[in-house]
Amino acid sequence: MPHDSTMRTGEGHGRAGVTGKIRLSQRGWLFDLDGTIYLGDSLIPGADATIAALRAAGRRVAFLSNKPLQTREDYARKLTGLGIPTGPDEVITSSLVLARHLVTLDPGAPVFVIGEPPLIAELAAHGFETRADHRVRWVVIAFDRTFDYAKLNTALQAVRAGARLIATNPDRTCPTPEGEIPDCAGMIAAVEAVTGQAVEVVVGKPSSIILDVALRTLGVTAGECVIVGDRLETDIVMGRCYGLTTVLVLSGITRPDDPRIAEIHPDAVLPSIRELIK
Ligand SMILES: [Mg+2]
Repeated sequence: MPHDSTMRTGEGHGRAGVTGKIRLSQRGWLFDLDGTIYLGDSLIPGADATIAALRAAGRRVAFLSNKPLQTREDYARKLTGLGIPTGPDEVITSSLVLARHLVTLDPGAPVFVIGEPPLIAELAAHGFETRADHRVRWVVIAFDRTFDYAKLNTALQAVRAGARLIATNPDRTCPTPEGEIPDCAGMIAAVEAVTGQAVEVVVGKPSSIILDVALRTLGVTAGECVIVGDRLETDIVMGRCYGLTTVLVLSGITRPDDPRIAEIHPDAVLPSIRELIK
């Protein structure tokens, strides 16, 4: 296993045939997706070469997304299509982590989901009874582009009848090629505002719950792992809290003059993941 940070990767490995020095020597590498690997349907230039170089050098790589709108299979297919061959087991989403966490809290519980079909399918696959009415023990809150008054009312009635609240991710917005769109924070705020009850658990980044799943997937400790992401309050805060090496990339949501960069202080700030290879 190579540990020399100045090691030169072999030519001809991976699709991009990369030659370059990996800047950091850690064994495990976690990559955010939106704004880090791709933006919309476009690969961030050099992302394929960087991932190929890390894999060729024996590093362990996984992808970590707070977005509950697609399945792991969908993300793996998208990454593979963009030139980063990936299996579903290398992708960790907030949907998967929420379903696994809820199994530890209340297996098989009836749930009402403010969310889209991939999340509902993940919960059903983990043995939960997904219901369309308020007779549930949990209201699961996620990024939901079909959120409406009827769902808000069902959530209210469920909480009045004793249901608890759990959510996938805390993101306020999601970057798209056309600009930002509302994310899960809007649904959380709406439900908390009308019910007067706080969400108990948000499993996505920056929670340790999603990180534990990711580190187990890679088979490394936090100290052996790098997280690379474009969002300070999720990717970088999680890494700083739990002892990972943090790399902020400026290819997504964070502007170079953001004053929080100095406060949160990632270990490295790079224009994009291309620069992980010198
Ligand atoms: Mg991102």
